[in-house]
Order: sequence, then structure tokens, then C-alpha cells
Amino acid sequence: MKCYRWIAGLLPTLMICLGQPCQSGFAAGQFGPTADDSSSRADATRVIAVRAGRLFDGKSDRLLEDQVIVIRGDRIAEVGPAARVSIPPGAEVINLGRATVLPGLIDAHTHLFLTGESGGRYDEQLLKESWQYRTIEAVVNARKDLEAGFTAMRDLETEGAMYSDVDVRNAINRGLIPGPRLQVVTRAISTTGGYPLEGYSPEVPVPTGVQIVDSPDEARKAVREQIKYGADLIKIYSTHRFRFTPEGKLLSIPTLTLDEIKAIVNEAHREEVKVACHAYGGEGLHNCFEAGVDSIEHGIDLDDASIQQMVEKGIYFVPTLYAYENEPEEDLRATGGKTSRARIHEGSFRRALARGVKIAFGTDVGPFPHGTQAKEFEYMVRFGMTPAQALRSATSAAAELMSWQDRIGSIEKGKFADLVGVAGDPLADITELERVRFVMKDGRIVRNDIK
Ligand SMILES: [Zn+2]
Repeated sequence: MKCYRWIAGLLPTLMICLGQPCQSGFAAGQFGPTADDSSSRADATRVIAVRAGRLFDGKSDRLLEDQVIVIRGDRIAEVGPAARVSIPPGAEVINLGRATVLPGLIDAHTHLFLTGESGGRYDEQLLKESWQYRTIEAVVNARKDLEAGFTAMRDLETEGAMYSDVDVRNAINRGLIPGPRLQVVTRAISTTGGYPLEGYSPEVPVPTGVQIVDSPDEARKAVREQIKYGADLIKIYSTHRFRFTPEGKLLSIPTLTLDEIKAIVNEAHREEVKVACHAYGGEGLHNCFEAGVDSIEHGIDLDDASIQQMVEKGIYFVPTLYAYENEPEEDLRATGGKTSRARIHEGSFRRALARGVKIAFGTDVGPFPHGTQAKEFEYMVRFGMTPAQALRSATSAAAELMSWQDRIGSIEKGKFADLVGVAGDPLADITELERVRFVMKDGRIVRNDIK
């Protein structure tokens, strides 16, 4: 997903972000992508044993001590206490005995095709960079995210680079380039006037960061086209412009009509594809619940009815907290210092957490540098999560959002051998995740800086 900041001279606070919804109604493997058919995986006869001084399995509240993970090819063959699990003869042993080993991290909201968009860079990327150049940037970004420990991601639209994310996903799966296993959105969907580029003269044709639809029929056709050309999930922008009232209340302007969103969700679900909904609040957000989307991205201004809907329907919340913490100044200027999206967002996150809404880790990385998105953990914990909850949001919970809980998100027999290692104890200091020192994907070492 992307978050796009619009610094042009319209509303000082105008900002566009993407969100994606996910609903729990679909079982693993039943729904969604099969895009991780990697031919790059490790030789099936290769056996590796990882010694883990401490291990977070992706599901529990505590660390296990002195564990061994046996890996055959690209999969975990066995995991358990060193006293019980014997290391097979001839296995390559990786000693992380002084480190903490965790499942590979999952970022459920990224933008590989954005490379620092603030200060007008977004317009420049769409107007001056070819899809080919942007794809090269995306390849570089994918490697940075992987080396930071993110072994799986949902990439939430290319921002004008059309279907180039499908090629990046396929190249990773085929072993041509390093990168996380990906689910990709392709183009995303909004309405005329519901997405940048904006602010140009009517007689000058300029590209748009999404596919535009203006009727239920056009919406249905867009979904069909995007799936035809390789989309793993559909993303809609259900709100776009926003402003603050003099009292400091956030008003989010809807884009798609309820009928258009219903057509999108109906068509996507007919084709067994999930729908992610970017929404801040208000009518656009509520339309997404009524239409039956699967996840809410950002959800900055969640009222009690929204939270109730998310709990009842099992809709995932992908908050992307850090992206908003980055730049509260423009909001503070717009509200005379009363409030900001960041502070409203914090309140929504705290209330959703208290009510038991399913929360998946997502960062909106792209507008800020790839490979730095683990900063999100710090804000999740600061706003009320335990470190273990925050880690589960980026492992087992995000895997469920992707319908990939049968293959990633925990360190268990049969799962892909996607692992990360940090030097310290992340339950004592969540910022350890900002200093990932060991990364393995598909049983292959991406980096190992643990000595
Ligand atoms: Zn986004």
C-alpha cells in the first residue's frame, strides 16, 4: 500500500494513503494467490540446523530457550529443544546460540514502486520516470526490505507503473532477483478526481496513480482486468481528500459509491481474490464494511461502529502508524495545533486494540526509505501493544491476512524456512527488530552478521 503525500497548493493537509482490508472468511489455500511457486528454493537434499539461543515461534507470548531448527531444502523439518532435536549427520550448522530467532517478518502494506515521494517526488516519478526505470528502483527496494528481515509483503499498488509489480513478483519467485515473497495489487482503483496526479491544467493529459472507474460496470471490469494481468488482491481508495473542521474534527471525503464498491467486492470474491480498502473514516469507510471488504488500511478515524463492524466480521486492520508520525507538522498547522492525523490515529489504534480487532503489521514504506519500516514496531508498542502482540502482528497475524498461514508466519514443521535473527531480546526491547542481523528465506541465507 502506499501512502502518498501531496504537497501541492490545494489543501495543506491533503494526503493520500492506501489501505487494504482483509477478512477472515477465507481459509488458507482456499483463497488468493499461489504466487510463491519459487524455483529459487534451496536444494531439497540440503540439510541445515540452526541453533537458536532464544526463539519466538510467531504465536506465543514468550521466548523459548536453546532450540534447534532443522531445515531440509526450503522447509522446516523439525523444531524443538536442543536436548530433544538431534542434528542430522552432515548438516550445515548455523550457530545463533547468542541470538533470538524469529519467523521472517511480514509487511502487509508496502510500495516497492515509491522511492521517497515527499516534496513533489511523487509527481516527478509519474511524469519523468519510465516504468522500466521505476521497476529497477523496485528491484533495489525489494532487496532492501528483504535484508531488513521482511521475507513476505503485500505490495499495495504500483502508483502509475501499471502491472510492473507482477514482473517483480515473478522474477523473485523464479530466482532472478532477491526479494520477499509478494502478493501484489497492480493498479488499485479510485474515481475521477479521487487520486493524483492532480492540480494540472485540464488541457494537459497527465498519468494517474490508479485505475479510474466511474460506474459499477467499470468497477467490475477493472477488477477483471487486474486479475487477468496478475493481481493477487484488489485495492480500492474509498476516501481521498480530507480536511479538519475548526474544532479539529477530521472529515474524509468518499470516492467510490457504495454500488461501485459492492461491484468490486462481488467480482473479486467471485474470483477468490481479497479486497483491501484504503479509508480514513466517515462514509467511505462505512461503505467498505457494508460492501464486505477484507481489510482496512490506515483507518485513521475509526468510530465505535467501525470497530464493532471489524470485530463482528473479522476484518483486519492494517494501521501504518509510523508513516503518519513522520510528518504531523502540516496537520498541526491546519488545526492551529489542536490535533493531527497521527494523534487521531493513535486513539483509533488504542480503541481497536482494546476491543480485540485483528491487527496486521503494515507500514506504507516507500514514501520513507525501504528497509527502515521496522520502526513501526516501536509505535505499536508505544500505543499499547505488548512486544509479543506486535511481533505476532508481523508474523502469524499477517500470514492469516494473506491466507498464507499454512506456509509462513511461524516457526513450525512444514513451513517455509523464512527466519530472522536479532542479537538481543525483542520482548525486552522491540527496537531490536530495527537491527536485524540474520535473514533466511526459503532455507537460503540472505545475510548473517551475527558473530
Ligand atoms: Zn499506502
